[in-house]
This record gives sequence, structure tokens and C-alpha cells, in this order.
Amino acid sequence: MTDAYTRFIRSVPGSALAKQLGLPRPAKLPRRDDRPEPVLGPVVVLGESEGADQISQLLLTWGTDVRRRFEEVRTVGSVIVVADEIASPADLGPLVLPLAGAMRSLAPGARIVTLSRPAQGEDPARDAARGGVEGFLRSLAHEMRGGATANGILVEDGVELDAPGVIGALRFFLSARSAFVTGQLLTVSSDAGGSTENESLPLAGRTALVTGAARGIGAAIARTLAADGAKLVVLDVPGAGTELARLANELHAVPIQLDVTSASAGERLVSSLRDRRLTLDVLVLNAGITRDKMLANMTADRWDPVLAVNISSQIALTEALIGAGDVLGAQPRVVSLASTSGIAGNRGQTNYAASKAGVITFVDALAGKLEALGGTANAVAPGFIETEMTARMPALTREVARRLNSLQQGGLPVDVAEAISFLSTAEAGGLRGETLRVCGQNMVGR
Ligand code: NAD
Repeated sequence: MTDAYTRFIRSVPGSALAKQLGLPRPAKLPRRDDRPEPVLGPVVVLGESEGADQISQLLLTWGTDVRRRFEEVRTVGSVIVVADEIASPADLGPLVLPLAGAMRSLAPGARIVTLSRPAQGEDPARDAARGGVEGFLRSLAHEMRGGATANGILVEDGVELDAPGVIGALRFFLSARSAFVTGQLLTVSSDAGGSTENESLPLAGRTALVTGAARGIGAAIARTLAADGAKLVVLDVPGAGTELARLANELHAVPIQLDVTSASAGERLVSSLRDRRLTLDVLVLNAGITRDKMLANMTADRWDPVLAVNISSQIALTEALIGAGDVLGAQPRVVSLASTSGIAGNRGQTNYAASKAGVITFVDALAGKLEALGGTANAVAPGFIETEMTARMPALTREVARRLNSLQQGGLPVDVAEAISFLSTAEAGGLRGETLRVCGQNMVGR
């Protein structure tokens, strides 16, 4: 799905006009069908630490063309900056400046990933250097062109650089699955997680439930999880029964018609799962609504349903599923839908932003609760995604919202789905309470 402006700008007269007037020229983002290989090579690994050697060795086991310097590489596919041992801000320059001369040699859709450790509040010089990596990465992402992205992985002290969560995050950021993710950092907080046995079907043998699956992002999530090998349970309101049944037929999924805000939703979901002898390995809490109004015009009939669908239902459903004791598999993965509005706020969305900011703090607390089960909870915060929800926005607001990110375009539902699929894998076990933005580095918020 390409918007009208982008179609025009990619035409011959449109491209000439855009060049002349300095208009945004959004690049085509390579997605997994365009670039199925997991890593775009050659990959240059920067850094002198043992960690840099470890990462180079890992990439070699993936069959990747790995180099340690830019000389003799004409077009660079990917760059990994390993900054795990930097001790002061003075260490940053020698590590990242080799990239300066290579920026114009990056391939379209290239990937840059930093690997570093988060500040610990102990050693001022070391923390300044560690914080510096984050600032560097976020600015670099604004400078990427041609659909290329830059993201970072923060590996907590004590967690090895070859921990499953680091490998999973690296695989995700290097692949075309992270097409609309840029300028983001994910923290790997533990060595937990397993390895993916079948890389082309990372969710094989897992059962996943997606709420609000009948259309939009939810339907894309269900399709992506199914393509990644999961058995699907798809849930939506009875009013969306026809679309839900169609999707269930397409994916050989189990449909459940349920309003997640009903008082008995948790109980009914547990009994539906028990009746069908299903245990869930993955729970995607996607159902969500907007009822936008400025606070001056806000009423309870706009406030209450938004809070009820977007956050209270998530609390009730997860309590019921955990409480039941027999409907969650080992090491369950919960992934919830937040929004960049929940991070930065948005005019006319006090209700929506309250609910989505609630999701971000909710998954953090839920991750602690699920740890005892070997489970995780994380969130994905989409920015502007092309769906029926955003198609209802006034045309001008919609056009501005699309361009306000480093990739200068709206994301697709599949971009959100790809991030959710990654957070649902065995490898993502070391990521807990994270909120990953899928927003093309939207200019709002961090
Ligand atoms: P959508 O309106 O197209 O789809 C939402 C789905 O949720 C629908 O199928 C709807 O029937 C279902 N649903 C609503 N209330 C329900 C209830 N009480 N019980 C069960 N199902 C219910 O929305 P979308 O754009 O696909 O958004 C999906 C999620 O992504 C939402 O949580 C939304 O807040 C979030 N999100 C979307 C965007 C975007 O740009 N589209 C941006 C940020 C976050």
C-alpha cells in the first residue's frame, strides 16, 4: 500500500519536482518478500573488544560475508558497532568515525546496529560513554537514506553478547523484518530464552491468540504469526464475526467471538480454550479503539470505552489466563499494543494516551509476574500505520503525520506484526517489559 504522494514522487516528473523543491522523497522499504536473506552483506563489524570478535564469529556461522574494516568494500550491506567495552567518551570517536567515510557506500535498505551496555549509575565517565552511544545512534538514524535503518541493542552488564536475546534482537534489526523500525534501542536484561530451531518457521509448534484480529493490524499479526509457523486463535467482537470467520478459514485458525470488555470475558476465554484443549504460548493484546476529543469536550462516553478496551481488558484477560493455571504453555510470551501517543502524548487523545501509556507500564509489571513461569511481557508502540483507524483522520493531518518520521512514510500493518513475531520467539526470552517503537523514528517522543 503506497500513498498517493509517494506514488507521485516516485514518478519521473514527481521525482524531478521533489528534487527541485526539496520535498520529502520516501524510499521504498525492503520487506521480507523483497529481501528474504536474513542479513544484507557484506557486514562490517567495528570494535576491538572480545565482544566484537564474538559477534564476527557468530555472523560467520550464519554464512555471512564479514569484514573488520571498510577498505575494499564498495557497497556496505550492514554495519555492527560493538561498543561493549567503552570506558570514556574519548573512546567513541575512534570506534564510530570509520563509519563517516562509509556512509555514502551504504546499500539501499542497509542496516546499522550498535551493541553496547546501558549506563549503570556507578562510573560517571563510563556511563557518559554508554549514554553517548544512544545519542549517536538516535542521530545517525535521522541521517540514514534509501530505506536504511540504524538501531541499537543494550546488553545489561553480566549478560553475554551471545545471549539468546542479543542474537534474536540482532537477527531482527539486521533483517528486512524491521523495515519500519529505526532509531530504537532494545535492552536485553537476562540470558534467558532459547534458540530458534527452525529459522524460517520460528514459531513452529507454538499456539498464539490475537485479540482484535478481524482486520487492520490484528489481521496482519495473525497472518505473520501463522506464516512463522504458529497455530492461531483469532478473537474479535461478535459484530466482526464475518471478517473473523473469513480470516480463520484462511489461516486454519480457531475463531472466538468475544467482547474483551465484557465482565465475563476472562472466564469465557478460559473456558473456550479448555473446551478446545488449547494452551497458549503467545498472547497478543491488540484490540484497541480511539474516541478522540480535546479534554474540554471529553465525556465519559468517550473516555470510558477507550480505557476499557485498550488497557482494563488486558489486565482482566491476563489475570484470568494466569489465574486459570492450565491454559498457558511453558515460557509464555505476552505482547501488547501501545502507541507512540502513549510515549509523547497527542492533542485530542488524553484518553487514548492514558490507556497506551498504561500499556507500557503494565507490560513492565506483568513481565515481573510472568518471570516465575519463564515468560515475558513486552509491548510494541506503532507510530503512523496505514489502517482503517488512520484512514479516518482528516486528510491534511494524515498527510503531515505520514511524513513526520525519518523514513518519511506511514508504516504497514505487517511492520508491526513483524516486531510482534520477533518478541514472541524463544530467542526473545531476555527481553522483559520493553516497548519497541515501530514508527520510522517518529519525531514525537524519544
Ligand atoms: P482497527 O480499528 O482497524 O482494528 C481494531 C480491531 O479491534 C477491530 O477488529 C475491532 O473489532 C477490535 N476490537 C475493538 N474493540 C474490541 C473489543 N471490545 N473486543 C474485541 N475486539 C475489539 O485498529 P488498528 O489500526 O488495526 O489498531 C490495532 C491496535 O494498534 C490498536 O490497539 C491500536 O490502538 C494500535 N495502534 C494503531 C496505530 C495505527 O496507526 N493504526 C498506531 C498506534 C497504535
